[in-house]
Order: sequence, then C-alpha cells, then structure tokens
Amino acid sequence: MTDTEKFVLPSGIECEIQELTAEAERVLTNKADVKSGQWINKFIAKALVKIGGKPVPQNQGELINILLDMKTGDRNYLLLRIRMQSYGDEMIFNYECPKCHKTSGYKLNLREMLEDGTLKIYPFRDDVPIVVETRDGTAEIDYTTGRSEQWLASLKDIDTIHLALAACKSFNGKAPEYKDFCKLKTRDISKIRMAYSELKGGLDPQIELNCYECDNSYKVMLQQIPDFFTPLTTAGNIGL
Ligand SMILES: [Zn+2]
Repeated sequence: MTDTEKFVLPSGIECEIQELTAEAERVLTNKADVKSGQWINKFIAKALVKIGGKPVPQNQGELINILLDMKTGDRNYLLLRIRMQSYGDEMIFNYECPKCHKTSGYKLNLREMLEDGTLKIYPFRDDVPIVVETRDGTAEIDYTTGRSEQWLASLKDIDTIHLALAACKSFNGKAPEYKDFCKLKTRDISKIRMAYSELKGGLDPQIELNCYECDNSYKVMLQQIPDFFTPLTTAGNIGL
C-alpha cells in the first residue's frame, strides 16, 4: 500500500495524491515533453489519485485535459504538495545571484513557509474576467490555466506580448492573436500585464532569496529551482 494524502486546492477542489515513483522523474528528462510543455502535466498525473472526490480517469488524455483546464494558482499548489509528499518539506539548494553571479546555499522548509504565510495563497476572485480598455479595443483578463502555461512553455522566446496574450481571454470579443497585440501601444500592453498581476488566486510560487555575497534580494519561482523536482541536484557544491 502506498501512503496517500488528501487536501483541498485553493479553489475548493478535493485532491488525493500518492508518492511519486522513480518513473515520474523520467518525465522530467524526456526532451520532447519538456519542449512541448507536456512534462508538468505528466508529472502531476503520476501523483494524482483522486480529483473532485473521484478516482482520476484511467485514460491519460482525459486526465491531462482536466489538468490543463485547472487554474495556474491551483496547479502551483498541487505541485507544491506533490513535492512535499514525495521529497519532504525541506528544500536544500544552491542558487546563482542574478546580480553578482555568485552562488549561495539555501535551506527552506516548505511546510513552515505555507504555515507562516511566507508562501501566500490567495482566494480566487469571482468577478473575472476583468475588463481593460486599451486605445485599440477591450481586453478581458482572466486567470491562466494549464493550457496557457503549456503554450508559453512551447515557445522558443517569450516576450511581453506573449505574456499579455496568455492572460487575455478575449480582445474585442475574439480570441486575441499575436499580430493584433503587436499593434498595441506598449503602454496598453503593460496595462494588460498590470491587470493580470493584480489578479491573484491560488498559490503564489514566488519566493525572495537574499544573496550572501552582495546582499541583493531577488525573486524566483519555486518550481524554477531545479531542486524543486529533483532534490540534491545542486546542493553540496559549496559545502551545504
Ligand atoms: Zn549577489
């Protein structure tokens, strides 16, 4: 019997997860999946046992669709719980400061950070989509889902227009396209991005790290730290 853990996602959906097997880590190294952005869904699929009180669909495609429709703030929380269930609450890693490029060692306790509010969870707003008026039309901003995450992950280079597009549900009543947004004024693009950044819901995976060498503070997304998925890949280099 595998130990499972039950909890409720920030949006209220009940979940049950099991510990990952070594096979799940292979998902992280499949180049095609990493390139297409599919890996994160396959990774979650390996751990999820029940969702919404029901066993997950046996059909992998059906399950992936459920995960793709899930809001990013729920997905971030789910990933964090899978990480804690499979690898423990502690995260020990090295990270390179973006300013001085020197590496510092860190030790975090993810459960404590959840409990003391260092990692923030926001309730989802129900007054979405938010309407933003630009000089070229009306944009509707909504929570991103796994679909927008996957689209962003599949792009070679991400610019501010892509980020604005990912947050935008419609533009003048239609699905927005890159070429439409290229014509927008930069001030309008930043207005869209600003509205999205204020739309908080679910787990905010940003944490602040302080460089021991130059005292610079910088923000990083938890899941962008390699050791989040594969512990001990970097720790130890500088004697931690
Ligand atoms: Zn530094």
